[in-house]
Amino acid sequence: MQLDRLIANGAVVDPVTGVRPLDIGVKDGRIAALFEPGCAAAAAEVIDASGRLVFPGLIDAHVHFGFGEPITEYSTETVYAAQGGFTTVLGYFLNNEPYGGVFERELGYAKDRALVDFAFHFSTASELHLDELDQYVRDYGVTSFKYFMNFKGEEGRYLGLDGTDDGYLYALLEKAATLGDVTIVVHTENIEVVNRFRRSAAAAEMATLRDWAATKPPFTEAESVVRALYFAEHLGAKIYIPHISTRMALDEVRRWRERYDNVYVETCPHYLTHHEDSDLGGMGKANPPFRSKDDVEAMWEGLADGSIDVVASDHVPRKRATKDKPIWQASQGFPGTATILPVLMDQGFHKGRLSLERIAQLLCSAPAGIFGLPRKGRIEVGADADITIVDPDFEREVRWQELGSYSDYSLYDGWRLTGWPRLTMVRGVTVMRDGEIVGPAGHGRYLSRTAD
Ligand SMILES: [Zn+2]
Repeated sequence: MQLDRLIANGAVVDPVTGVRPLDIGVKDGRIAALFEPGCAAAAAEVIDASGRLVFPGLIDAHVHFGFGEPITEYSTETVYAAQGGFTTVLGYFLNNEPYGGVFERELGYAKDRALVDFAFHFSTASELHLDELDQYVRDYGVTSFKYFMNFKGEEGRYLGLDGTDDGYLYALLEKAATLGDVTIVVHTENIEVVNRFRRSAAAAEMATLRDWAATKPPFTEAESVVRALYFAEHLGAKIYIPHISTRMALDEVRRWRERYDNVYVETCPHYLTHHEDSDLGGMGKANPPFRSKDDVEAMWEGLADGSIDVVASDHVPRKRATKDKPIWQASQGFPGTATILPVLMDQGFHKGRLSLERIAQLLCSAPAGIFGLPRKGRIEVGADADITIVDPDFEREVRWQELGSYSDYSLYDGWRLTGWPRLTMVRGVTVMRDGEIVGPAGHGRYLSRTAD
């Protein structure tokens, strides 16, 4: 067999079995064979991965579309993903309209622009979404839906949504449980309690990140986690808690898993690197907010002990101008895909807090398994040839100007991080090499999660 490519002399990071020298044969976009090193199999191109780690292509399970420049964001944000070693991104939409039109329109924009593979999550906010849920699964291959516990009543209507409640969440989980492997992603926040804190904070003209965090104390995340898990267990639904940020909430998950284990948990890089006394003002505004130093420590513990399953960015590619404002006016969220791996390598692996296989679980096999991507997340024969080659000792200062996102800043600007992706391959095609984009726009494909 003549291979298209041979990735030779690298150390393959398997999420289960760990690090092992292996050569990878690629043909027709798939992994065709795995060889002992030095096999010298015949290939049209040999990629020398000496001294490098070879990860399965990384998957960012939590990005947002619709906050950058419409249409071209499929280009800018997937370039940014490829620069960070990501071969697949899963993007959220939030809409009150039927998703049929949204799906066709966005797919049309992405088709000629996306560099890496992509799938969608729909945020369910109306009765219509609930009625059409089985159609979204069947016709569009979307099998994950986000529900915001904080978009209750007036809060939801203010955002142009129907304004939902616990009854809606109940019905959503009930329906999801009948549709096969469908995941309900639940933003856990008790907005009724938050609103009381917010009123007194606003009256007192409070203005720091710590004040922002104080309006959303850990209780408001932890209590909602308990409620969501209670509902999920009762209805037998699969539930995913995104962007968990507090020790208190994570401890509730640990307790609940004793009685119900169809629950998955994600945190984001910023909850591993930033706390409420970070001196960033509106630039550091996110929901959930940055928490205490103890909460940061709790997130690292959760990654190491397996109670957190996934690290994803919650990437929002807004411009600095929407952030660099007083705390109450600043928009929430920031870009993050491209810096996930360097953060985990530098702050996790190099500090002895995370093994390489644990990183491969968090960024590859877990998101692939949870979100129904059977050809992604592993280096095995038959899988898509999605490969991320990492130089564990490459040190680089983060400069947003060198990264392709529509946004014009990074939380990590000026940070020197060690451990960067040097090559990103999507289905056998090299799309990023040494930080430069070399792959064709439009190479990225939409991943239906119910087709074939
Ligand atoms: Zn959320």
